[in-house]
Amino acid sequence: MRDQWGRNINYLRVSVTERCNLRCRYCMPHGVPLCTHSDTLRYEELLRICAAASAIGITRFKITGGEPLVRQDCADFLARLKALPGVEQVTLTTNGLLLPQYLDALAQAGVDAINISLDTLRPERYHQITGSDGRSVTRVLEALDACVERGIRTKINTVLLPETSDELALLASLAAARPVDVRFIELMPIGEGRKLTGISQDEALARLRIAWPDLHATSERRGNGPAQYYAANGLTGRIGLIGAVSHAFCSSCNRVRLTSTGTLKPCLCYGEGTDLRGLLRAGCTDEALTLALAGAVRGKPLAHCFNQHSGATERRAMFQIGG
Ligand code: SAM
Ligand code: SF4
Repeated sequence: MRDQWGRNINYLRVSVTERCNLRCRYCMPHGVPLCTHSDTLRYEELLRICAAASAIGITRFKITGGEPLVRQDCADFLARLKALPGVEQVTLTTNGLLLPQYLDALAQAGVDAINISLDTLRPERYHQITGSDGRSVTRVLEALDACVERGIRTKINTVLLPETSDELALLASLAAARPVDVRFIELMPIGEGRKLTGISQDEALARLRIAWPDLHATSERRGNGPAQYYAANGLTGRIGLIGAVSHAFCSSCNRVRLTSTGTLKPCLCYGEGTDLRGLLRAGCTDEALTLALAGAVRGKPLAHCFNQHSGATERRAMFQIGG
């Protein structure tokens, strides 16, 4: 459906849990309080909301979190979501650590694409950024190759952090021999990200051009995201840049977000949202649910204001929102 500004909203990011097996320093610091299991929507509740979303024209869904694969039966949920009428595409965003365990089930469930988040290839930095054993880098790279071998469309997502600015070309070279896109995302002032300074898309591009002087923008759309893609000789996949802060792409925004506790968020930047869990648990009809969703989508704000920190009213952290 169209929002009040005429944009076609056809994409819902669905967080299935706040919990995570990593503690990325810009997302989920150690010791954060977590919501209770009863605050988290049950799969049946998530599916009811997704069915209502499909009824208003949302055809593409991203399963995210926290780490979605730490929630039991996530692949089964994915299969049930894919089977809903009107659902065309279900993709997953993961830190990759549990992929070896769940890739078969995800493939059987019909996952359409997988995004793997990986900010560094250096074990000691991986440990500093995620709090986890640096040897996990190898595990994540093996999972990436397993996805590619299965023919699953796979992307790497890398947040542009100052401490990894010297290895962007190395990370991008994951797209050299593999048909994988590597996307660099500006750090957003959400949660812990408010206290940190990332590096800009332009600086990243300048650094990447040292390794690939012929890097050139393409007009391809590769997935549902706002990335600007670049190609170069020697790259099988593409390099994507997401200037979430420096290059607002709100005029083409196609998405809304559902937190694992049932708030429908029309824009990442603002705290406002519609409490769908309250509605569901008060026994609302499918019609009332669909109306509430449609109202939230229609009222989506025109633009984020990440470049003026004071206007951003979202106080939840990224692991609570779903990224
Ligand atoms: N745990 C999964 C993962 O890491 O892919 C899914 C959830 S995570 C919140 C989704 C994405 O949000 C990850 O790629 C992560 O790097 C990104 N992210 C988290 N905090 C961010 C921030 N402040 N700015 C930009 N991206 C952020
Ligand atoms: Fe977990 Fe993903 Fe946040 Fe890292 S970015 S702490 S993996 S939810």
